[in-house]
Amino acid sequence: MSVPSNESTALRAGVILDRDGTLIDVVRDEETGTVSVAFHPDHVRLLPGVLDGLKLLSAAGYGLAIASNQPGPAKGQFTRAAVERTNRALLDLLGAQGIEIATVEVCLHHPQGGPGGDRTLIAECRCRKPKPGLLLSAMEHARFDPVRTWMIGDSSADALAARAAQVRGALVFPTNRCEICPLRGGPELGPELVCARFDQLAEAICTADGALSEQEGRSL
Ligand SMILES: [Mg+2]
Ligand SMILES: [Zn+2]
Repeated sequence: MSVPSNESTALRAGVILDRDGTLIDVVRDEETGTVSVAFHPDHVRLLPGVLDGLKLLSAAGYGLAIASNQPGPAKGQFTRAAVERTNRALLDLLGAQGIEIATVEVCLHHPQGGPGGDRTLIAECRCRKPKPGLLLSAMEHARFDPVRTWMIGDSSADALAARAAQVRGALVFPTNRCEICPLRGGPELGPELVCARFDQLAEAICTADGALSEQEGRSL
């Protein structure tokens, strides 16, 4: 076993991404009027501006990670394998565009669970956002420097998790999604940045960090 070099141990700037409502759309069943998160590869649809925004963040030198609450298996809505297949489809879709995700951190727990749910997943865990566990794991596995890391989400749980993990929070806040208003927690719990679209948020993050004014070839 060799001694790791400085290069391999150096921490980097990172962006931790929520999945549902941030990277991909929720699934609406027009017939029943119900809304659910994606749980099949065919459901995976990137939201407007996501591809451009991720490319911008990558080019600016940020590492990328995903942190997602997926209580569906605990609630009996779909299986753990369905979550894994859906996440794989998302990674494949992004990978085909040259976007690499360093790690995907998933909380499968739910405090109450639901009918037919996997009872082993019913727990008050440390990972479920707004707790910081998923974000801390993502930073450890992707080797992100907390001081240079952002969390991009679409809900107050994401903003609170960012605060709890002591990273900066950024919210995508589309005006047509008021039924799950991410700002319902109040301004005192608010994130550092709010934009209507993912690409605008990515630009705002780069601007806030001066990442775009850096000389070409110089990473964050
Ligand atoms: Mg979300
Ligand atoms: Zn959990």
